Amino acid sequence: MRYNKVNEKIISSLVQIVGKENVISDEKTLENYAHDETPLYRSMPDVALKPGSTEEVSKIMKLANANMVPVTPRGGGTSLSAGAVPIHGGIVLLLERMNKIKEIDKKNMMVIVEPGIITEQLGNELAKHGLFFPPDPVSLDSCMIGGNIAECAGGPRAMKYGVTKNYVLGIEVVLPDSTIQRYGGKLLKNVTGYDIIDLIIGSEGTLAIVTEAILKVLPVPTVIIDLLVPFKCVEDSVNFGIDVMHTGLMPAAIEFMEGEVYRLVAKYLGRNLPFAEADAQIIVELDGNNRELLRKHYDEIGNIALKHGALDVFVGESAKDREKIWEPRKNASDALKDQSKLLAREDLVVPKDKIPELIARLKQCVKQYSAHLYAFGHLGDGNIHSDIAVSDYGDDKKFDHSDKRWINEMRKEIYAITLSLGGAITAEHGIGLSKIQYLEMALDKRQIEIMKKIKMIFDPKNILNPGKIFPQEK
Ligand SMILES: Cc1cc2nc3c(=O)[nH]c(=O)nc-3n(C[C@H](O)[C@H](O)[C@H](O)COP(=O)(O)OP(=O)(O)OC[C@H]3O[C@@H](n4cnc5c(N)ncnc54)[C@H](O)[C@@H]3O)c2cc1C
Repeated sequence: MRYNKVNEKIISSLVQIVGKENVISDEKTLENYAHDETPLYRSMPDVALKPGSTEEVSKIMKLANANMVPVTPRGGGTSLSAGAVPIHGGIVLLLERMNKIKEIDKKNMMVIVEPGIITEQLGNELAKHGLFFPPDPVSLDSCMIGGNIAECAGGPRAMKYGVTKNYVLGIEVVLPDSTIQRYGGKLLKNVTGYDIIDLIIGSEGTLAIVTEAILKVLPVPTVIIDLLVPFKCVEDSVNFGIDVMHTGLMPAAIEFMEGEVYRLVAKYLGRNLPFAEADAQIIVELDGNNRELLRKHYDEIGNIALKHGALDVFVGESAKDREKIWEPRKNASDALKDQSKLLAREDLVVPKDKIPELIARLKQCVKQYSAHLYAFGHLGDGNIHSDIAVSDYGDDKKFDHSDKRWINEMRKEIYAITLSLGGAITAEHGIGLSKIQYLEMALDKRQIEIMKKIKMIFDPKNILNPGKIFPQEK
């Protein structure tokens, strides 16, 4: 499929649509939109635009269609699958100006938002009204609701509250041909025809541009208590997590960090962290409205932890203590980025009881490539992030890291191990660009064919975020 470059004539039409101040065409600023948070992927757009309304998005799509220019929607740019990288150049559509909360409907416990609102800001605004939007990607201080919908983002609280798709009741979208459409509404149940909302959620910006969403919200829990539990070995920590889930106490989150990650974070933060010698750290978060009841629950969980050989149980009730408990987990990604030559950020998911085996086999596997695997993530739902790094290219004489083909070979092995354990190659970050060549390992030909046909129906010219999810046609 051949695309056209954005020429001066197209630029002047774009200026007419969004205004001069919302058209970015200087190379230095455009460089910010050539990449997201995925290591190794980069491609320059021709232009970046900041539309201020659904109508402007629609007009941009009309122009893009007429000129065969590819369009890549972008929220906070925190994608970890290179989903926001404009691989064919063209237009990057920045949704950041469309960041309003249009309505907080307390009676129906729903909120109507534009896609560019930052997830954490939405949470802060809702809290003022005693409300709460549960999906909590760890990137919530910079990702946006539109990006969360496009990726069906989850987060630590997914084990209790589910992921983004469990909260989207309605959407307004602009289709690639520029049509504006609305699906769903302020309805908790609706089975009128196929569920197009769920099809668009998680479609990684390839089917439609989300310009508005109706989200279900819940009453905000008034009490949150966190526990930090260090363990001698990974297996004990996972068995502890599984036992806690069987108690019916339903923590909001059970997060995992292997000792090596925790120690890297300590170095990154420049201070000692307690029990840094432990091989695994678990955070358990309990939430509700009755402090005394939650205290009973954490006593019970503390006893389970000690039964599984926990080295200690730290309890955080105040906001300050809770922040201290979460700080290492929240800094894990940045610490790894800062202190290692990161090459791949994996987002694997397996049945929870398979986590120790997954980690052990992956570590063994990457060793052949003189690489190192750091594991952390959402134990509560079996989703382990495994960042793969090398100390320095060419440093290790046993292995030549300079020819990056080895990364593909290693990834194939990692995914084969994950799939053999009944897992999936991505739990929440998406296929994007970085996992395209492995899609055929995870899905059969017919499944991929059906998905491609769906893409064709929505986007027959393949101009919306092209080059994502599916291998390019030869
Ligand atoms: C430190 C860190 C921690 C993270 N933790 C988590 C986590 O706990 N859970 C999790 O699920 N993810 C996590 N992520 C990944 C990432 O934050 C999520 O995928 C997030 O939902 C992306 O949102 P964004 O606004 O940054 O989207 P972007 O990165 O800008 O875009 C992501 C994709 O969505 C598309 N898109 C963006 N906006 C729209 C729109 N309005 N309409 C249609 N398509 C659109 C883009 O084209 C792209 O394909 C993490 C990332 C980082 C860097």
